Parts: sequence; C-alpha cells; structure tokens
Amino acid sequence: MLWQDLPRCRRLWAAVRAERARAPERQRLLCKRQCACRRYVCMVKNAVVPRLARIAISLVLPESCVLCGAAVEPDCGWPVCGSCVAMLEAELAEDAGRPRCEICGKPLISRHGRCTRCRAATYDFDSVYPLFRYADDVRALVLAYKGAGRRSLSGFFARQLASVVSTRFAGRVLVPVPPRPGKLRRRGWDQVEAIASILQREYGIPVLRALVRSVAAEQKALNLEERAANMRGTIRLARGIEVPANPVLLDDILTTGATLSACAACLKSARAVRVDALTIAAD
Ligand SMILES: [Zn+2]
Ligand SMILES: [Zn+2]
Repeated sequence: MLWQDLPRCRRLWAAVRAERARAPERQRLLCKRQCACRRYVCMVKNAVVPRLARIAISLVLPESCVLCGAAVEPDCGWPVCGSCVAMLEAELAEDAGRPRCEICGKPLISRHGRCTRCRAATYDFDSVYPLFRYADDVRALVLAYKGAGRRSLSGFFARQLASVVSTRFAGRVLVPVPPRPGKLRRRGWDQVEAIASILQREYGIPVLRALVRSVAAEQKALNLEERAANMRGTIRLARGIEVPANPVLLDDILTTGATLSACAACLKSARAVRVDALTIAAD
C-alpha cells in the first residue's frame, strides 16, 4: 500500500505492529496472574480493551489479506479476507474425501494403504492428520505465520483445527509439541502454543502441556535417520503430568515425522496406548 511507503506512516505502522506483537503475550501474563482473583478486571483488560483498540486501529489502518491483499473486515480477528477463507474451506472440504496415507495423511493415488515413505519407515505415532496440503496459499499463510510473525493467523488456524478435532478427535486431549529452546529464545513466541491456547480458551478443547524439549542440534541439514537419532532423548515428560491413554499431538508442519515420533515415544513410555497427531499441513 502507498501509505506504508511514507516515512511518517511507516513509523506509525511500526508502532501498531509492535503493539499487536506485544498484545498476546501481555494477555497471557495477565490471565495467568489475575484470572483467579480479579476476573472482571482481567476480562475488561484482556477482552474488551484490546478488541476496541483493534477495531479503532483497523478503521484507520485497514489490515490487508495475506493472500489477496484485499481489505479485511474490521474485527475479523485474522488477516485473511472472507472470500479467501471461503476458498480455503472449500479446498478443505474437497480434500476430506480424497484418499490419504493411513500413517502420514499425505495424498495417495490408490484408495487405501501407505505412501512409499511410510512403507519403509517406522514411527512411534499411530497416524497424522495434516489439515492442508503445504502448497500455494497455505504455504503463504504458514510463511506469514512462522516466518513473518503474523500472530493473528493463530486464530484462523485454530478455527480450522477445531473443526477437525470435533469430527476426528472428539473428547481426546491435545498435547502441543514443545518448541526447541533456542528457537523460542530467537523468535520470542511459540507458534504451536499460540494455537493450542486458542483451542483451549475459545473452543473448550482440553490441552495438556505434557512435554518438554531440551536443546538438540538443528535438524534442517540432517537426513531421516540422523533426525530420529538427533531427536532421541531431547523430549521428556513435564513434571507431575498424568498422560491420558490416547492423546493427540499438535504440531504446525509435518516434515519427516521425526519430532512427532519422538514425542509419541515419550507419551507411550508413560501411559499412552494410542498417539495420533494433528498438524496444519504436511510438507
Ligand atoms: Zn483474500
Ligand atoms: Zn505416508
């Protein structure tokens, strides 16, 4: 947009973005410390004031859709316009009936069975359900969310994931995959936790933060076997956690499955019998 190129507006826009980036963290802190004793104050601070501020800001500086650039409706809650949301949801409905690998959930040509990779590999999880295919618009959304730090997309992803939870994993407890400690320090927020907390708070889905991750080497340059070895021993149970019999792991992107497998192994070493996983997309 033209106004973003003007120096004066750029400064204003930077202030707005900084405020938006701080808001979820501040809400989380206020909720944790004040919900029990000052519920009304907490509610006003966390819900009403940021909501009004968001509407006021969006009237002056309308947010544009991450995918098509059209103005997003004020108080929409995420930077994706109505027609792009409708298009993505239609894609999801179409994909739901297509054949998928029974283990990794990636598209299959045959009606039943496993993909080539899953026929050769063994995982500790029982199955993964990736919501979207990691291509085109979904790739743009994920890059905006994880790469460019558009935190408000967590609401959009949570809405889509909530409908899958209600149909495929109703009544089961979600366990978010913990972030690498270094990554959390660098980025300052946890993309999976942001979605998990919305699922818990706004959709009433039970979430158990059962896993903790210690420092491991970066995985990007490693092959499948090296990733599995790298992951071994970095995931452990949080203290005082009682693991349910059939938890569902929650992660953002399924790549090799090494992280999900290590998490599932950890849960199964406690009390879990069946561990499935739900992700935004599969790469
Ligand atoms: Zn759009
Ligand atoms: Zn597969």
